[in-house]
Amino acid sequence: MSYWRKILKPLLADEIGTIYQHAPTRVALAFPNRYSVGMASLGFQVIYRMFNQEEDFACERAFLPDDVDAFKQSREFLPMMESGDPVGNADLIAFSVSFELDITNIIRFLELSGLKAWRTERDDSDPVVIVGGPLTSSNPYPLAPFADVICIGDGEEIVPIIAEAWREAGSREEFFELLEGRPGIYLPDRMAHEPLWATAPKEKLPAFSQIVTPHSELSNMFLVEAQRGCPRPCTFCLARTMYGPNRNNEADDLLACIPDWVKKVGLVGAALSDFKHTKYVGRTLTQRGVKLGVSSIRADTVDTELAQILRDGGLRSFTVASDAASQRLRDWMKKGISEADLLKTAHITKDLGFSGLKVYMMIGLPPENDDDITELIAFSKELSKITKVAMGISPFVPKRHTPHHADPFAGVDVIEKRFKRIQKELRRDLELRNVSAKWAWVESVIARGGPEIGKAAYLVKDNESFSAWKSALEQTGWRDEFADNQVTLEMTPGQVLKPMPRDVVLGGVGD
Ligand code: SF4
Repeated sequence: MSYWRKILKPLLADEIGTIYQHAPTRVALAFPNRYSVGMASLGFQVIYRMFNQEEDFACERAFLPDDVDAFKQSREFLPMMESGDPVGNADLIAFSVSFELDITNIIRFLELSGLKAWRTERDDSDPVVIVGGPLTSSNPYPLAPFADVICIGDGEEIVPIIAEAWREAGSREEFFELLEGRPGIYLPDRMAHEPLWATAPKEKLPAFSQIVTPHSELSNMFLVEAQRGCPRPCTFCLARTMYGPNRNNEADDLLACIPDWVKKVGLVGAALSDFKHTKYVGRTLTQRGVKLGVSSIRADTVDTELAQILRDGGLRSFTVASDAASQRLRDWMKKGISEADLLKTAHITKDLGFSGLKVYMMIGLPPENDDDITELIAFSKELSKITKVAMGISPFVPKRHTPHHADPFAGVDVIEKRFKRIQKELRRDLELRNVSAKWAWVESVIARGGPEIGKAAYLVKDNESFSAWKSALEQTGWRDEFADNQVTLEMTPGQVLKPMPRDVVLGGVGD
């Protein structure tokens, strides 16, 4: 039995909202990760609907199999979801990439589709490969060796540009000519630098789900975007730059997007508690018997009314971000959250019967030292006396388009040592989960690298590990331009004692 019949067809049977369309131009909308992860991406779902709304276009989805090795052995080509036809039959393959570490999955995806990964090795008989998604806004350069077209910014603005150019063009080259210079379009073969991001006007929002499925990581949840961008100044965060200017949607527009049959709604937004309609929309939905889902809420904006609405919407645990080990570090990166805010949230949620508090934490900020970790441990113990705490700890990964773009990565050894200390001293008080320091280092390299990182990704794609990445990077001649930069708490985030090399901010372009 084919992979499509055995694995994908049963998934299709459980979906609501699938679009089956036939048209002269076929688009394979590709998510370089599993079905369950891709279907939880609101951006991916929006692009699916938008391509299908274009005249003469039919868009199908395609995902990486859960078990890539088993699929390889089957010797099939990767199929599109709706028809089961091979991805290679599409005219355009449009990737939506959210995470740095998915770069190797793009290569695997193309090869499982029977295509060459390198742009320069494909020809007119192959589909045009387009790459978009949050990663391209952060750093498109490692993707340059593989993509014919890179889209940077809001898909609502870019999909019509691509469709129009494709309809008008008589050839692949003409298609690229028509795209060159358009907002948010980066053609690695023709342009030295990334363009300005394309920003959708408010009239094209809100974004909302097309398909609801129990097999998404957000099982059966209908997503609707309350706001895009963020008005806050937290220096480490890409939400304030990557998603463009802050745009808030109207409450009635959000509610109008949600079909009557929906039982679970996820409100999407970088700082939902700053969104002035969160309480109204939340209350309206819970009164209809709809369950609510939200990401984290800023602790400084939590009050009893908001927590009550979320509890009535079925939330059992409450999530906030502390984001730095000590108050001096939170102040340094302009987080705007105090210990008092976190303690207040713990009390409110405990009193309302939430099962516990999830706290996001980052360690490895450049000015961090052992005293900051001591403060983190002492404060976490205090918090866990109020309510059950689960803490997710991630290493700080400096990103382009933030004031931290030239900050050094703290180092795998330093972060692992601090993790160990935190685990030793807190394991009896709270639940701890940490992101691997080694993979955070790889993420930091991809996040600020150039096309040479794409070449390293190609070298590791069949046998990916931390040590494989290290030796592949050595082979490509990569060196850490930021390692010796020094940052102190006295400086504004982003200032470094040593001037950074000129090509660093733009990632070093050129194959
Ligand atoms: S951390 Fe939150 S509040 Fe701060 S800029 Fe990012 S999304 Fe906005």
